[in-house]
Amino acid sequence: MENLKNDCHVLLVTFPGQGHINPSLQFAKKLVNLGIKVTFSTSLTAFNRIYKLPNIEGLSFTPFSDGYDGKFEGSLDQFESFYSSLVSHGSEFMTQIIESRAVEGRPFKRVIYTTLMAWVGIVARGINVPSTFFWIQPATVMDIYYYCFTDYADCFKNCSEDQVVDLPGLPRLSPRDFPSFVFTDVNSKYGWGVKSIIDQIELLNSEENPRVLVNTFDDLEFDALRALKNLTMVGIGPSIPSAFLDGNDPLDKSFGADLSSSSENYMDWLDTMTKESVIYIAFGSYSEISSQLLEEIGQGLVKCGRPFLWVIREEKEGSHPEEKLTCKEELEKQGKIVRWCSQVEVLQHPSLGCFLTHCGWNSTLESLSSGMPIVACPLWTDQGCNAKLVQDVWKIGVRVNASKEGVVERDEFKKCIEIVMEDGEKRDELKINAKKWKDLAKEATKENGSSNVNLKAYVNEILLSQ
Ligand code: UDP
Repeated sequence: MENLKNDCHVLLVTFPGQGHINPSLQFAKKLVNLGIKVTFSTSLTAFNRIYKLPNIEGLSFTPFSDGYDGKFEGSLDQFESFYSSLVSHGSEFMTQIIESRAVEGRPFKRVIYTTLMAWVGIVARGINVPSTFFWIQPATVMDIYYYCFTDYADCFKNCSEDQVVDLPGLPRLSPRDFPSFVFTDVNSKYGWGVKSIIDQIELLNSEENPRVLVNTFDDLEFDALRALKNLTMVGIGPSIPSAFLDGNDPLDKSFGADLSSSSENYMDWLDTMTKESVIYIAFGSYSEISSQLLEEIGQGLVKCGRPFLWVIREEKEGSHPEEKLTCKEELEKQGKIVRWCSQVEVLQHPSLGCFLTHCGWNSTLESLSSGMPIVACPLWTDQGCNAKLVQDVWKIGVRVNASKEGVVERDEFKKCIEIVMEDGEKRDELKINAKKWKDLAKEATKENGSSNVNLKAYVNEILLSQ
């Protein structure tokens, strides 16, 4: 077995976004621990933002040019041209690296790729290398897309806002719970995302026994993992830093983007706060927050009067969105605004009382695995669905509601924060549930836990493949 292990090498390709890189890196580390060497690849745009690459034997990094040489400065609205450049440059690179490794007599045993990277699976298929799709969002979201782009398309057409949809294996859903690509036209500016999901589903459906690895775990999404008849979904998560789970690896700060620009003293400041008193606010690594939403959050915080730690990322042109807040001075007396933080460490801090989050899947898993109650303010992609699960299925948080005009107002933020933070029955209930999911997440990744068993079975299959 040792010899086989020494020869066994996989290529792991991720979409160039922090929310994809983080779970993929954790997954890569687990593969390495189980005896598989990993070449980790994403485009230069993402690599250039990485503060420090982790130095782990058996894990190597191979960036590829996305045609912008890491200098894509556009907004999400201009992403279409970036994405098509990523696909064309990336396809060439993947073909070349896979073929040259085969010629050298040390072929990749498997190519693993993440959400929005269907083209990698297509390249691998074209040159006859087995591939595995790693879905880095909840199984429920995969189910919804699958239903939407195959047999249940009609359920998604002309849905009114207050309609409730029943889909096999899923909780009852309203349109606001659907991932946003369900409503996105393939010819619109975000059409690249929808097309990639449709390509992915077609690719899986053309396989004999299609299987997807999912960043979730059995207890969390038992039915959703088993909802699709034609697709096997295998939970191997939560794929988050081990500090949240078994704590075996030292805290891994190195992969956090933009750490160089974070204010390091926020941890000292948290140390001075009383237990469970601080609201942590962060909206992930790339979503663009309108100045109106920023102002409403700010005013909501002022109305609450509680201490907070708020991550407001620098904008592309180097401008600081918090400068536009009309209540900036009051806020500075009340809490702390930082450009980036080590979310892993913050969520574990005893002073933290709740997490106001956009419900990116990593943030949701990280919060859940920390036993931290959530105020959910989803923006797009899978976040609306994640917020639904947080509030109604796992019951670990409260979701903000938008007004008729589509604005989440300051009083709504105040109300939801108070529900989650104020001592009483509701907070107790949220905390008890949060603690339950935290324990189950730990369970899943233990030696005989469901995710670990699934992962080992997958690794053995690779080790024993020809
Ligand atoms: N993150 C962080 N520090 C911050 C904000 C975010 O370390 O100040 C990390 C967070 O821990 C998570 C990732 O960035 O792992 C964001 O992923 P998520 O899926 O939540 O959101 P996305 O960035 O994809 O919208």
